Amino acid sequence: MANIAKFRLGAVIVLIAALIALIVVSLKIEELIEKQYQEDFRAAAYDELIERREEVEATTFGMFLALQRLASHVLDSSSDWGEHFEHFAEREIGDSSYVTAVIASPLVGPEAAYPSGAADLLPAGQEAVLFDSQASDPEYLAAKAGLLNGPLQATDGRQVLLLRHRVLSHFMEPENEFWGVTTVVVDLVRFLERIGLAEISRGFDILIRDESNSSTTDTIIHGDVSRNWTDALSFDFEFPNGSWEVLAIPREGWPLHSPDWLRNRIVMFGVTFFVILTLSYVLRLSELRYLAEERLNNAIRAMENGLAIFDSQGRLHKCNANFAGFYSGALDVIRPGATAREIVETIARRGIVADAIGCEDEWIAEHGSAHRRTKNYTCTDKMSNGRILRVSDHRMEDGGTVCIRSDVTELEEAVAEAQAANVTKTQFINTLSHELRTPLTVILGLAGIAKLTDRMPVVRALKTVLEETSAPPIVREKVDEVIDHFSKLVIQQEKSGQHLLSLINEMLDFAKIESGTFVVECAETPISEIVEPLEAQLEIEVNRKGLAFEVNCDEGSVYADAFRTRQILYNLIGNALKFTDMGKIVLSTERTDSHVMFHVRDTGTGIALDDIDKIFEAFRQVDSSVTRRRGGTGLGLAISRELALAQGGTISVDSELGVGSTFTLSLLAAAPTTRAREDKRDRADRGQAA
Ligand code: ADP
Repeated sequence: MANIAKFRLGAVIVLIAALIALIVVSLKIEELIEKQYQEDFRAAAYDELIERREEVEATTFGMFLALQRLASHVLDSSSDWGEHFEHFAEREIGDSSYVTAVIASPLVGPEAAYPSGAADLLPAGQEAVLFDSQASDPEYLAAKAGLLNGPLQATDGRQVLLLRHRVLSHFMEPENEFWGVTTVVVDLVRFLERIGLAEISRGFDILIRDESNSSTTDTIIHGDVSRNWTDALSFDFEFPNGSWEVLAIPREGWPLHSPDWLRNRIVMFGVTFFVILTLSYVLRLSELRYLAEERLNNAIRAMENGLAIFDSQGRLHKCNANFAGFYSGALDVIRPGATAREIVETIARRGIVADAIGCEDEWIAEHGSAHRRTKNYTCTDKMSNGRILRVSDHRMEDGGTVCIRSDVTELEEAVAEAQAANVTKTQFINTLSHELRTPLTVILGLAGIAKLTDRMPVVRALKTVLEETSAPPIVREKVDEVIDHFSKLVIQQEKSGQHLLSLINEMLDFAKIESGTFVVECAETPISEIVEPLEAQLEIEVNRKGLAFEVNCDEGSVYADAFRTRQILYNLIGNALKFTDMGKIVLSTERTDSHVMFHVRDTGTGIALDDIDKIFEAFRQVDSSVTRRRGGTGLGLAISRELALAQGGTISVDSELGVGSTFTLSLLAAAPTTRAREDKRDRADRGQAA
């Protein structure tokens, strides 16, 4: 029980450990999935924004190029550039919906704007920036005036961006002198629309900051700076002479969980539950297996016999202490995993089995191959310590072998003693029967002579004397009476003697059968040779009892020992006579292809169904009180059956209480062939083994 408690504790620990491991693994997997999802989400957002950035960069770069071209036109047109400016501006930039105005501001001379008068849109102070004393310094212009300025509020109230280009003259002396500035006024709302910010803004909060103009305070181009932008996606928009930093953050914030989070969690819970359930089931099965194994082990341990189980490879699986104890000199090899051959060899070589000493190889071959046999193997081994072991190896269905060893020393001794006692008993019965039979034969012989009193010389002489002396009639009468009485006594005595003789003969036959010294000699014998003497002998007796005796036998022959067959039939008819008070007794034969059946039918008491099987047992009488009245020992049918079997035949009975019985002796019709004889011997062997 302690073992099973340990097993259960182990199982619970395994379950808990598995549960913890599964939960940890599930959480880890979930974390990875979530992380992956968030990374994917960020990457997707990033990709989308990068696409927009390219568009913005391309748009601004396009405007910058347009400004450059515009500058070239202005410079190429020399002094009358102002007249053509509107035309140039319209051609280069005018079709962009987000461009509100284009302004050219030369250092010397009046400025020009497209559409005309649009210069007024510039927020106050912006112009001054262009024309202060340092405007010709490119670094100043880039830093202060900026190439991309804004957002600013134009004079008409719109939010605008200013894209500026510093124009240097190529044709005037000195070369590359600062000519002035061209400016594109971009409508911020339309520009942002153009670059698709509105679309992005649906999912993201966007903050656009002008990085190139960091010295000015108002650098936010778009978005709410007060929002927390710490976890935002950040990337730069590079322009020819400046850059924007764009920060983007999903409107709802970064997702904490993937949309499949709940489903994943349920799936993981399901998997964990399923794994734990399966594990519990496996552990339960293991426990049942363990319990079964324990029970088997306990049973094997508790067995009085030695028991060992070998697997199909002939390796020892397990054995109990009794098994090992029988071969205590080979304990070092009798261990699980050892081969049967190894164990058998050790037992033989170490002289543990007395029977193996001197013929070790044969013994090893015989016992070692037991495990390769398909049939069961049984034998008895005498051990060196004087004990006798009954060896019985049984092949199992899985190819393994179960070996049982029983100490049959006492049993064998008892059997030997019983056999010796049986022999003594048989000898005693033999001797006694012979000793009884000899004087009885003499008595019967004398009785045979004495019953013929009239013919005895002394009686004749007495009668002659009585005649000659003319004895009175009364004397002669009395003498006749005495002689008659004497004769009757002798006849009675002879009958009893005969009966005693038949009993002694039965005893002798039975003793012979028991000791196996009984011999029958079968030959093909005419049925008449068996039946006629019986008929002659029994007819008078049957008739004397007032019964009819019918004999209907065929003319053929039977394979039998005539004397013993007559003995059987005599016994059967004798019983019929004994148990029939009126009616008849019929002896008839019936023939099949192979057998001749002798039927003895009577109209006597019959035998109850329950008793039918018992009447063939030795000394068995159905109702001993009745039988005592009718005589008998209870040996007749037992002997008859043995006699029938010895001749290759059988006896059976069919009876109905109060109606009568039919006993059937079945014998071979002809001598059996060799094959049939072998079959018969096999059957007899099997019968004996069983
Ligand atoms: P026994 O010498 O006592 O007759 P048997 O072995 O010949 O012994 O018979 C055993 C018993 O079988 C008898 O005691 C009797 O009860 C029964 N038996 C045998 N033959 C007959 C028969 N023809 N009718 C009725 N009972 C019979």
